[in-house]
Amino acid sequence: MSVATAREFGLFIDGETVEGSEARELVEPATGENFGTAQLAGEAEVDRAVAAARASLDGVWGKTPPNERSRLLHALADAIHANRKELAELESRNVGKAISSVKAELGGAVENFRFFASAIATIAGRSNPIGGSLLFYSQKEPVGVAAQIVPWNYPLLMTTWKLSPALAAGCAVVLKPDPQTPATALRLAELAADVGFPAGAINVVPGDGPTTGAYLVRHPGTDKVAFTGSTRTGGEIMRLCSDPIKRLTLELGGKSPSLIFADADLASAIPSAVWSIYYSAGQSCEARSRVLVEQSIYDEVASEFAAKAQTVKMGDPLDAETQMGSLISTGHREKVHAFVEGARDDGAEVLTGGEPGETGAFYPPTVIAGVENASSIAQEEVFGPVVTLIPFADEKDAIRIANDVKYGLMATVWTGDPARGHRIASRVKAGTIGINMPYTAFPGIPFGGYKQSGFGRELGIDALELYLETKSVIVNTGARPINPFGL
Ligand code: NAD
Repeated sequence: MSVATAREFGLFIDGETVEGSEARELVEPATGENFGTAQLAGEAEVDRAVAAARASLDGVWGKTPPNERSRLLHALADAIHANRKELAELESRNVGKAISSVKAELGGAVENFRFFASAIATIAGRSNPIGGSLLFYSQKEPVGVAAQIVPWNYPLLMTTWKLSPALAAGCAVVLKPDPQTPATALRLAELAADVGFPAGAINVVPGDGPTTGAYLVRHPGTDKVAFTGSTRTGGEIMRLCSDPIKRLTLELGGKSPSLIFADADLASAIPSAVWSIYYSAGQSCEARSRVLVEQSIYDEVASEFAAKAQTVKMGDPLDAETQMGSLISTGHREKVHAFVEGARDDGAEVLTGGEPGETGAFYPPTVIAGVENASSIAQEEVFGPVVTLIPFADEKDAIRIANDVKYGLMATVWTGDPARGHRIASRVKAGTIGINMPYTAFPGIPFGGYKQSGFGRELGIDALELYLETKSVIVNTGARPINPFGL
């Protein structure tokens, strides 16, 4: 039975659901059917949300002590767990993502709030001896009002990644989801209010990026910007933050590799590398969209990879057996297909897939061989279920190709030689390396990018620190007056 019915999604400002400046129809990408209506924020609503956040910092939320913040984060984790069926269905229908994937993401979301509920205990200053009659101590303070912007590919998970460290630190938040996928972030804000987060601590204002998003970034009432999205938009946001010197963290795109050596256990490496690209239909920042294969096993891996790709179950996102749902929209599907057509024009061989589905925004698992790493299909973030298989000669060559992209988010190495695994981990420029392990993100383990994949980290204590300022306090404990000019 459906628990998430189509509905009107308002904005969430100052503890209540309110109307925006525009209403827009939401569409289920897998079916093309109506999924409800989203109210969108314009500048006036952003002003209200920022004012509410500021007032909460000056009021109840700013006075909420760490133990109470921890209790509230645990309570929100409990509420997400209790409402997981509804949240999973909302996310699956809104994004077109397989519900089996969404359920796994929900488990991560719960644990993430629990991690930061505990991590509050690490918020501490220090006191160093500095000699004489001077006493020094430092204290941590919340940065203030955090403007957070999240994309459409993991609307719920990215919202939880952003909210949890900010709230643990004591910041108030104005979060802008993508206008296509506001459902679960808004539901999460309602749940937060239900469990006792004070009005204004969490505000959610879906809206268009270049207008509402840019306005929020520039807003003089926001002290920090945390952005997840494309590298191109990240650059634009960095420019907007440069004038007021606003604090900024960026989680951006990727073109991450799986490296498969001839000594690897192929019974794990191949199906895991298949999962690593087709999970979330390839619409993942850390999708391992380049598979680098040692030349001596290239043909064997290519044929086995293509065979396994054909067995990935694509279909109704709400079917528990489905492994890959639809893309976010038919418009995005056209962009993905244009990349594949471009690769064909460059002489690539499409081993499987490469033709769009007829209904909904579906695109099949696609495997491309016969292109150089310099080609556009191997350099650009396709953000769809498209993988490029590239041979390498030896370990040095594998590291060279792995690093020969502008991104540096993740890499997975498959090898039977443990020492080689660690050598690769130290030489590949990426924020996360998996050795014989395809998974990406764990609560408590820092996640983020090198190079043009961004800077700052999510998930770990490092993320909490990015929402805190350090204040140094120096005290004279001497009995004699201080008179530097001898006046
Ligand atoms: P996008 O950059 O187009 O949009 C992301 C968000 O930014 C949306 O909410 C959008 O409305 C907003 N936005 C767009 N232009 C803006 C502007 N000028 N000012 C302020 N806000 C603006 O990205 P997308 O296509 O929606 O998302 C996919 C991208 O996100 C991919 O590149 C993916 O790799 C990246 N991503 C990165 C991570 C990570 O942790 N590194 C995680 C998920 C997704």
